[in-house]
Amino acid sequence: MRICVDYALIGTNLDLERNICISIENNRISQITGYTSTSPDIYIPSSIAIPITANCHAHCLDAALPSIGEDLELELVVSPRRGIKYAEISRCSIDKLTECAKLYLAHAFRQGVIVVASYAELESLGVEVLARASSSIPVIVVPFPQPCPSDISSVEKYLAILKTMRRLGMNTLLDLEFEDLKELAKAAQHLSAHIHVHVSETERLYRAKDFERALELKPRAAIHCTYLGKEEALELSRVGIWIVPCPRSNTFLVGRVMDPNVFVEVFLETKRIALGTDNAAWFTPSVLREIEHYYMVSRVIARDRMLFVKALLYAATIGCFRCLGIEYRGIYENENAAMLIVQVPELRYSYSPLHTLVERLSSSRVIAVFGENIVPLETVSMHTPIKGVEKIRRSFEQSLQ
Ligand SMILES: [Zn+2]
Repeated sequence: MRICVDYALIGTNLDLERNICISIENNRISQITGYTSTSPDIYIPSSIAIPITANCHAHCLDAALPSIGEDLELELVVSPRRGIKYAEISRCSIDKLTECAKLYLAHAFRQGVIVVASYAELESLGVEVLARASSSIPVIVVPFPQPCPSDISSVEKYLAILKTMRRLGMNTLLDLEFEDLKELAKAAQHLSAHIHVHVSETERLYRAKDFERALELKPRAAIHCTYLGKEEALELSRVGIWIVPCPRSNTFLVGRVMDPNVFVEVFLETKRIALGTDNAAWFTPSVLREIEHYYMVSRVIARDRMLFVKALLYAATIGCFRCLGIEYRGIYENENAAMLIVQVPELRYSYSPLHTLVERLSSSRVIAVFGENIVPLETVSMHTPIKGVEKIRRSFEQSLQ
């Protein structure tokens, strides 16, 4: 099958190319060429093909607590020591938690997300809810179990989770002593395990220099990094830590986003950037919306607006997959045929196609390609099987292990 599009972001560098035909055979991209005289099987007008997206940070269980504690300080809602959310989750039945997480993941799929990395609150309970919810949804859920609030200072518990699950979601680096962080780092390295941890989300955490402790722990991903400056963010990324802002959450919960110029510097030097959507109590799981939002609120201070757009598109696609340890090269010959085709009517008149795309992402039509199946995402019903997804999903899951 040959699909033709007006533009495509090719390869891991997301090179923008015009008038592209993508041939697909046996669920893989067999050839990428320019327009030829033979007519394609399908031409999608006013379109740009981009790699499929992943979401590097979410709290799916909180989908059962929409808009909880709207008038409370953030800490009084989400902190394991003082927040109300853990008690509220405990009060929900497992069926309710599963149903809400399922709706949330279905929403993610309809927004072009194939992988969601989610904290699993209350340890085994969270893991069970995520496994149940994802069993009937085409999205791959990568669980990062979080210790229960009663175990928040117990390094033994963190080590036990790491050994069993090879993944761990930490609330903050301040929950453990320096020596504990070192021990945890050693265990993670030995097990090739991934730790994700919230870093400098709030000014209080930044002032407490939580990011310095990240150099002891060397987690796989530092989530938020809202307050980090250029040297601080680069120092983390140079030792292998991925920087994962959640722009809508950061705006909504703390009133600022990571400096776009810092984000671009990390992109240029190490490429260790990804994006997340954070807490399901407030934010839909759309990474495309994160791109648009971050660009909108930061455009005026971005020194190079084209580089910022490239960094955002990279972070939401190739960056998120790499951060999670999944091999995926985007729109690339011999890669899995998994991509999004975004239809933007204004593209044909655009002075700058990538800016036109990013500024209109949340209101554009998104079509997913899974192997030789073309799936208009707005029409997807979770009650009918979606052709072509299963093989792609299996292939990503295999590279995850
Ligand atoms: Zn979070």
